Amino acid sequence: MDDVRGMVLLLPGLQLLIDLLREQGWTVVGPTVREGVVFHAEIESVDQLPRGVGDVQDGGSYRLSQRGDEAVFRYVVGPQAWKSLLFPSRELLWSGRRAGADMDVEPADIDAPRLALLGVRSCDLHALAIHDTVLAKRAVPDAAYVSRRENNFIIAVTCSDPGGTCFCVSMGTGPVPDKDFDLALTELLDQDGHRFLIQPGSESGEEILDELTTRAVGDEVLNAARADRQAAREVGEAAAHRMGRSLDTGGLRDLLYANAENPRWEDAASRCLACTNCTLVCPTCFCTHVEDVSDLSGTDTQRWRVWDSCFTHDFSYLHGGSVRSSVSSRYRQWATHKLASWVDQFGTSGCVGCGRCITWCPAAIDITAEVGAIRSGKV
Ligand code: SF4
Ligand code: SF4
Repeated sequence: MDDVRGMVLLLPGLQLLIDLLREQGWTVVGPTVREGVVFHAEIESVDQLPRGVGDVQDGGSYRLSQRGDEAVFRYVVGPQAWKSLLFPSRELLWSGRRAGADMDVEPADIDAPRLALLGVRSCDLHALAIHDTVLAKRAVPDAAYVSRRENNFIIAVTCSDPGGTCFCVSMGTGPVPDKDFDLALTELLDQDGHRFLIQPGSESGEEILDELTTRAVGDEVLNAARADRQAAREVGEAAAHRMGRSLDTGGLRDLLYANAENPRWEDAASRCLACTNCTLVCPTCFCTHVEDVSDLSGTDTQRWRVWDSCFTHDFSYLHGGSVRSSVSSRYRQWATHKLASWVDQFGTSGCVGCGRCITWCPAAIDITAEVGAIRSGKV
């Protein structure tokens, strides 16, 4: 992005950006600290950002840490993927009311607030693009998802301190945002002070930058110097060399297809609790089921769509029984879908290397280790 226009914001400039977006009718959703994790919530002030907060992640382990500095974006992704805002875990599809022998059916109103998403990491941008393919580009698009995506303004952030379970470099999805954002920030914290290089990625982003420049009354918004761009480039390059995990993706699709009967699936299953955590935190998982509920009189009914998981016994229930009755068949299905059949189905891998499934697995099962074991033949 060296040839792209760039400005530098000081912390008051970041506040100016939040104020401007709010004035334009955007609800700004950004990182906050809640219940011991970095959690996306509505924010009005930079004081709500996780200042000086980092995190330590490993298989089955997540802890916030105190960095001892002023950084606000130097944590890694938390358990909550942006999909929880755009593709909610529970959504009303329609309501029905008995009318004699018939039923009146009302489709649910679509709730699509204007959301400005602040702090979106590159892996999660790629995950949004995957959901766009899955949910918006299919023959019958998901209308609620499409409405919500049309009402987004995205402020991406370059990752500076990747976590112990990150492997976006292996998946070609990070750590520097390269597409699908309106503005991109790189947080700089060096001898020249605490500041943010901000660059546009869309026409809307350009307009906001113009407005920021007009509004600035002091030095809270400055033109980026060559040194700022160089410092931002070094942040991304350093992050790329500090990935906590890696995954050899060479020939991966064919490797997994050829190993459907590999004993490693049983080994993983002997540790797997089939708890579904990995699928619920995954930013690309999209499986759901529907639930019908009716009142006691049988007059009113509602149909809800609820997140589901391929790790449950009932998810593959067809008439007469579950197709994947063993945990090993479910773990194999999940990993093989993510890394192999997703490519045939949607044209990309279904994994963006965010590491959430490793961090939030209570048994510390690690998709990179499981696939690595299959590749090495040391099961
Ligand atoms: S499979 Fe795991 S690492 Fe890959 S995108 Fe999903 S949660 Fe992230
Ligand atoms: S792999 Fe881990 S997170 Fe996923 S279902 Fe099994 S125990 Fe739960």
